[in-house]
Amino acid sequence: MKTIKEIDISGKRVLIRVDVNVPMDKFQNITDDTRIKGILPTVQYALDHHAKVILASHLGRPKGKTVPEMSLSPVAMRLGRYLKKLVKMAPDCVGSDVEALVNNMKTGEVILLENLRFHQGEQDNDENFAAALAGLCDVYINDAFAVCHRANASVEAITRFAPECGAGFLLQNELSYFKKAFDNPARPLVAIIGGAKISSKLAALENMLKHVDKFMVGGAMANTFLKSMGIDVGRSKTEEDLVITAGNLMKKADDKGVIFYVPVDAVVAGSQDAEVDIKIVPVKEVPEGSMIMDIGPATSLLYEEALADAKTIVWNGPMGVFEEEPFSKGTLTMARSVAESSALSIVGGGDTDVALHKAGESERITYISTGGGAFLALLEGEPLPGVAALDKVNMAGN
Ligand code: ADP
Ligand code: MG
Repeated sequence: MKTIKEIDISGKRVLIRVDVNVPMDKFQNITDDTRIKGILPTVQYALDHHAKVILASHLGRPKGKTVPEMSLSPVAMRLGRYLKKLVKMAPDCVGSDVEALVNNMKTGEVILLENLRFHQGEQDNDENFAAALAGLCDVYINDAFAVCHRANASVEAITRFAPECGAGFLLQNELSYFKKAFDNPARPLVAIIGGAKISSKLAALENMLKHVDKFMVGGAMANTFLKSMGIDVGRSKTEEDLVITAGNLMKKADDKGVIFYVPVDAVVAGSQDAEVDIKIVPVKEVPEGSMIMDIGPATSLLYEEALADAKTIVWNGPMGVFEEEPFSKGTLTMARSVAESSALSIVGGGDTDVALHKAGESERITYISTGGGAFLALLEGEPLPGVAALDKVNMAGN
């Protein structure tokens, strides 16, 4: 894959697909601008190398229609503040007005195109829409890792029309850290997997078992593993249809010599909402009417010990219902254990990311992925459509 550094961008119109899909409150105030900060190295590099910078992104789910509340203009303002220059907001992302704007750009100027998803063509990976976008540029750069698992026009089809294509620093970083963890990692390689469901991560679980030395599970998904071992988990959230699958996964791990850890104790509650009857119990003694809400302190300690010799750690998924204080300890303790480890640590997942920030441990993690779905897709071992498209054009000598 070619990177932005290998392409002559001086004086050229450079369209950078970024992901600045930031959360906003009802007054369109940006509530977290991590994603805006994440694109600064690539944008700044393009400016320093005398490009005309055209940025494209989606925001929210407008479903192919113009929704004023989903305009990217607040992002243009915030970005302008970081870049210390005007970021001009385009009225749309394609069309004659936008073409005129782009063709009048001077070197060192930045334009942010309006929300790509105001056009249905974006998510349909429509070639006409992709060609119209590509027509705005001399060089196309993909720096939107978080959407690379989707074949959208601005990440996939566009590579068939843009004169030259490459990757930005954020995308490059994501892929190279992931490679470090999965292709020839320093061992032991330990995976920590938690979160809501086995079903949403089944392919990732299967693939990870091929790579890791130790496997630790937590969160609601651990309940189904416990159940497959014949443990009665009371009213805990489980996936009945996956109990056998869970058992098979554990058997597979065993056959491969992967050490598989399940929680030994749990924080239980009588009801998730009322937070009543909160107790710490061994997993074999979950009261009939109770639900497992978090891993218990013995499990936290066990997992911390098991992490002690890790050289590489990959973590996705919280250990419990961390959003609620009484059930947050397992996840926060795990964040600290991973942070304190000297291993190369890679963490990904929308909720896991939130939990890490809540724990105040994001600085001590080697790399936090900016893509929830895309990170999971990497864990599944499948090529990401956006990345595959870049590889393909560059292989063809484009
Ligand atoms: P990520 O976004 O990091 O991949 P998931 O979306 O898979 O993580 O899972 C996060 C959700 O799982 C959180 O909302 C959390 O409350 C929930 N969860 C974790 N443990 C439990 C549990 N024991 N019971 C119910 N929900 C849980
Ligand atoms: Mg999630």
